[in-house]
Amino acid sequence: MSIRQLESGLKHLNVNDENEAPQPTGLKSKQVLTTSVSRSNLVKYALQASSESRQNEGNRVATITKVTQIPTLPPSPVRRQISGSSDESNVISERTSVSQASTNSSFSGLPPHPARPDRDLSLKDFEIGKPLGKGKFGRVYLAREKSTGFICALKCLHKSEIVQGKVEKQVRREVEIQSNLRHPNVLRLFGYFHDKKRIFLVLEYAGHGELYKHLRKEGKFPEWKAAQYVAQMAAALKYLHKKHIMHRDIKPENILVGIHGEIKISDFGWSVHAPNNRRQTMCGTLDYLPPEMIKPGGKDNFYDEKIDLWSLGVLMYEFLVGEAPFEDTPVMTQRRIARGEMSVPSFVSPEARDLIKKLLVLDPSKRLPLKDVEQHPWILKHCLGKGGDRAIERRS
Ligand code: AMP
Repeated sequence: MSIRQLESGLKHLNVNDENEAPQPTGLKSKQVLTTSVSRSNLVKYALQASSESRQNEGNRVATITKVTQIPTLPPSPVRRQISGSSDESNVISERTSVSQASTNSSFSGLPPHPARPDRDLSLKDFEIGKPLGKGKFGRVYLAREKSTGFICALKCLHKSEIVQGKVEKQVRREVEIQSNLRHPNVLRLFGYFHDKKRIFLVLEYAGHGELYKHLRKEGKFPEWKAAQYVAQMAAALKYLHKKHIMHRDIKPENILVGIHGEIKISDFGWSVHAPNNRRQTMCGTLDYLPPEMIKPGGKDNFYDEKIDLWSLGVLMYEFLVGEAPFEDTPVMTQRRIARGEMSVPSFVSPEARDLIKKLLVLDPSKRLPLKDVEQHPWILKHCLGKGGDRAIERRS
């Protein structure tokens, strides 16, 4: 696939959902910098985020870690790219900081953009802050939309690398699927714009970064924390499955942590919008692969959204034990997954063990459904907030 095909694909992104009207994402054909997110939309998002944030203030019982503010960033050089230019050498450094203060000001009564409220966004509309991380195909930066002060994460993908890596489909899938999702435990994709060489994804900023890093740092999570994470995952997966989307690549590396300690599923590169039909692609990470995906050939080699239930079981195990249940050499991992060979260490509570065993079931149809995961005694025990309200109910 060529860059031109990739671009034309980006113009037609759309996910028709039975619950929602399709959202217009049309791009103007003759723009050098085209976009699917306009300034007025971003103002809307900022206001939404503001009211959600205020709602969260009252719903604090559901949070996991001690509530912290967006960290005030040290003054860092902000790079501003000249619009339309794609050369790294054209990055201009300025001394500006993207801070909590500006986030707050953006949330309190955003003025409409004085000049052109409906103008499409481009790179020059953002102040770029510190790098947040590096993926295989690009970097992610903390960013602030200048006119609204809206804080977000800007993911920059190089078109040539996407084409070279033959991941056009994944990128398109990621944009297509993620931009239509709205759930507190699913990372928001507000929109995207692109220039000649790069695609920029305007993402929700997850203030506490990768869950994977927290897990590696802590070794394993205490049961109360693991249970809250699993409850949030179950709520997010329930939402996705209702929309006939299976994630297919659930693992700690693909989960981010928001400023209130809430988790945010990200990385929809492998997810599939699958109304009714079963898919047969082999993807994802070996440790998290369900048995029905590793069986080579044969008519049993199909799967549906229940693959995410298996991965949730693997995730829960890794949260509590610090390593995946089938971790071994690649050949042995596959063999052990196919046989469901694993043991839960004795330090794991009987209730948690029970839930793991009800998720890591070889027969997909016998895995505990998400609604029952949310009602499992281990979840209920750890997710009761003040006043008897259940965290997961708030999230659903
Ligand atoms: P990715 O290319 O999506 O794998 O992102 C690379 C890294 O950037 C991740 O591992 C995170 O550490 C960081 N990152 C990506 N997206 C965000 C975000 N929305 N908020 C905060 N950090 C992010």
